[in-house]
Amino acid sequence: MSFLQHYTSNIPTIRSTRGFRKNQSLDSTTDVQSSTVSSHRDIRDHVEQTLGSGSSLAKAVKLPPGEDLNEWLAVNVVDFYNQINMLYGTITEFCSPQTCPRMIATLEYEYLWQDPMAKNGKQPVSMSAPGYIESLMDWIQNFLDDETVFPSKMGVPFPKQFPLLVKTIMKRLFRVYAHIYCHHFDEINELNLQVHLNTSLKHFVFFTTEFNLLSTKDYGPLDELVERMLSDI
Ligand SMILES: [Zn+2]
Repeated sequence: MSFLQHYTSNIPTIRSTRGFRKNQSLDSTTDVQSSTVSSHRDIRDHVEQTLGSGSSLAKAVKLPPGEDLNEWLAVNVVDFYNQINMLYGTITEFCSPQTCPRMIATLEYEYLWQDPMAKNGKQPVSMSAPGYIESLMDWIQNFLDDETVFPSKMGVPFPKQFPLLVKTIMKRLFRVYAHIYCHHFDEINELNLQVHLNTSLKHFVFFTTEFNLLSTKDYGPLDELVERMLSDI
């Protein structure tokens, strides 16, 4: 059975497994009177509240009034990274170099791994799906841990090329959804996680559409599903 047949527009609350910053507990000064977003934690709470309150996802992904765009992108990138990590984590036992020797999504798409920051101009290489996804997650984690790229202190400026990096990260994260949908959807179904997966992807595509992060061709094997999700506002 295809994922399109299973697609449902239910929107349960998404909760991430990890916080945005390791030292988040130190940040306890919240202004009860004000509803403005003033810390990473406030921004995340805002996302979760709007998702859970029944307002549409389209509204939930919008930049909160007065919020810094880079800050908003950063918090959401971390959330999607965590969500995808968690979703892929549920099926890792079914995704091995034996079952998935290439990082494909249907037989039409193969994603080759290349570190765009590598200076020696290495050619993109074909990898197993788990190898590709591990390289991808490590590559992103390095940025999340780098204070010059993802500053943890409010008010510290983001690098100039930050929006471009966000595009590259989101484009690659999408490939994990593509692989899961095209090759592990039955397992996701058996684990009863299809609503969770659909909601996560729907949130993802609403977000990338709101901020023009992905182009239609980046949706490749899932373009039909993505189109259907986007028309469901
Ligand atoms: Zn796989």
